[in-house]
Amino acid sequence: MGRIIAITNQKGGVGKTTTSVNLSACLAYLGKKVLLIDIDPQGNATSGVGVNKGEIHSCIYDVLIDDEEVENVLQQSKVENLTVIPATISLAGAEIELVSTISREVRLKHALQEVKDQFDYIIIDCPPSLGLLTINALTAADAVIIPVQCEYYALEGLSQLLSTVRLVQKHLNQGLYIDGVLLTMLDARTNLGIQVIEEVKKYFQDKVYKTIIPRNVRLSEAPSHGEPIIIYDPKSRGAEVYLELAREVIKNG
Ligand code: ADP
Ligand code: MG
Repeated sequence: MGRIIAITNQKGGVGKTTTSVNLSACLAYLGKKVLLIDIDPQGNATSGVGVNKGEIHSCIYDVLIDDEEVENVLQQSKVENLTVIPATISLAGAEIELVSTISREVRLKHALQEVKDQFDYIIIDCPPSLGLLTINALTAADAVIIPVQCEYYALEGLSQLLSTVRLVQKHLNQGLYIDGVLLTMLDARTNLGIQVIEEVKKYFQDKVYKTIIPRNVRLSEAPSHGEPIIIYDPKSRGAEVYLELAREVIKNG
């Protein structure tokens, strides 16, 4: 049975997409069958694994709004073992269209039932908001990964995210749990990074992954080549740390 993990934080630019793409690709590299679902209208996870957005006929929008079968929107990525459900800009309208839809919070969960068994891991890249798209992800998910950037105000907004997680647990998905908080974009040359690590560990304690993602230029270059880091530069520090994260996620069960 596939484990569904939502990568979420309503703050933009904290490393959600980078983590979704590279964790998915590294899990696939380690032999797992992985489905990456892009539910951000920007579609950066889609292009990040080498799917050309111009050539997509149907996407996650059609699944959520028009009851399209998931089987019909699956696409092979550039990575062996990694399948993707793409997002296109049409998804931008979904947030509003979902409001008046029946079972609006559970549409992704229901849609995934038919394919869940085909994968070991299903990773969902969330948009930077706590709207209905993110609620759908949290309702479908078994677990959440929260990327937190090693910057000033790292913890800002997290109480709002945690209260959303609690609301979803209470009303929609009792079994949802936080797999871990992932520290991202650490600049090891500054004291600030170290301070943020301590602050986040004090708050989340053993929920913080041992793997910390450093700033790595290769990680920021890879998306423009439509390749996860494990393909773009497998020997880079970025590839090493995301492999380490994948192993930690696998170990968590
Ligand atoms: P989000 O999905 O949360 O908005 P992204 O993953 O898109 O965040 O990251 C924001 C920007 O930071 C992107 O340009 C990305 O390439 C870059 N980035 C993310 N993680 C790293 C990293 N570890 N090192 C260098 N650049 C990174
Ligand atoms: Mg993103």
